[in-house]
Amino acid sequence: MSTPSVSLRGLTKDFAGATVVDHLDLDIARGEFFSLLGPSGCGKTTTLRMIAGFSDPTSGTILVDGEDVTCTPPHKRDVNTVFQSYALFEHLDVRGNVGFGLRRKGLDRRTIDARVSEMLELVELGDRHKERPNRLSGGQRQRVALARALINQPKVLLLDEPLAALDLKLRHAMQAELKAIQREVGITFLFVTHDQDEALSMSDRVAIMNDGVIEQCGAPEDVYERPSSVFAAGFIGTSNLMSGTWTAGCVSVADLSIPVPGHQGSAEGDAVSVTVRPEKIWLSELTPQMFRVSGTIVATSYHGATTQYVVSIGPDLSLTVLEQNLPQMRADDRWHAGDRVEVGWLPEHTVVLT
Ligand code: ATP
Repeated sequence: MSTPSVSLRGLTKDFAGATVVDHLDLDIARGEFFSLLGPSGCGKTTTLRMIAGFSDPTSGTILVDGEDVTCTPPHKRDVNTVFQSYALFEHLDVRGNVGFGLRRKGLDRRTIDARVSEMLELVELGDRHKERPNRLSGGQRQRVALARALINQPKVLLLDEPLAALDLKLRHAMQAELKAIQREVGITFLFVTHDQDEALSMSDRVAIMNDGVIEQCGAPEDVYERPSSVFAAGFIGTSNLMSGTWTAGCVSVADLSIPVPGHQGSAEGDAVSVTVRPEKIWLSELTPQMFRVSGTIVATSYHGATTQYVVSIGPDLSLTVLEQNLPQMRADDRWHAGDRVEVGWLPEHTVVLT
């Protein structure tokens, strides 16, 4: 592997005796779009702030492009940060904001003008260049903040929940734009979010953080399809968590024996938790290969493109099932509370958690 863009080695931060970032080891490749995903308070921002140089680690090392920057002041690190609050200079127009970093570096005016125009084109704000930030929408302000950071051509761009203040529609639009911009400039993006959808849709890799440690790190498909821990399964998407005992190649949950082909590492009688994603469970057109169980629909909720059902399959045991509302389906084709159903899923969709 070539030199990583960012390497963390044993990175730790204590606040008043409490460890909020706990011996993080992580390598982020050059040009990667990497997300730190986790619940509020898990240590994402603290990690980002240490990489930016705004907060000193209690112990551990930070390398940017192979160079140890652990003790380097923030302005001498080749990283820039985009904050959720944008932190724009309200007394400067868009052009002034975007060109700020280059003026500070003392570049000549013509070079600055050319680079600013280029950046404004990249973030599609060329026609608003004379505007003051307070006359811009949230999405436009965010793009100014992005252009202001990117113009410095940092090796790494750190983004701390940059889309959190935007409404849902704009947020989705900005996600696509941000990803396209990242691809175009090729700079390493380290993105902090608690929004799983955002992390899955934009990232090359996602690290799920919990209580100061990384629970799982991998491509979006890996962390979603093959969660490795109960926390990871529960934090991303809806998981049908079932706890039971390992018995003869199956997990015994109440009176069910759920087969888990290929699973190794559990001994007879071990406590084992499994999960199956709601969209992997079928309510009709079940095939002989599927593990099947009878149940009763106890709740339904319509979400437009999908309908979500809760199916009781035993005392204190229910499954959430997500069914697509397909073109041929009519309203009365959907299930209703009280309907008796058979649910099924392919054995390979049962995931064992540690
Ligand atoms: P959020 O998504 O809410 O921003 P986060 O995952 O980014 O959460 P951090 O901001 O890194 O979490 O905070 C991690 C923990 O460290 C929290 O419990 C927080 O209260 C604590 N913490 C952060 N900064 C300080 C500080 N300066 N002094 C004391 N405790 C702090």
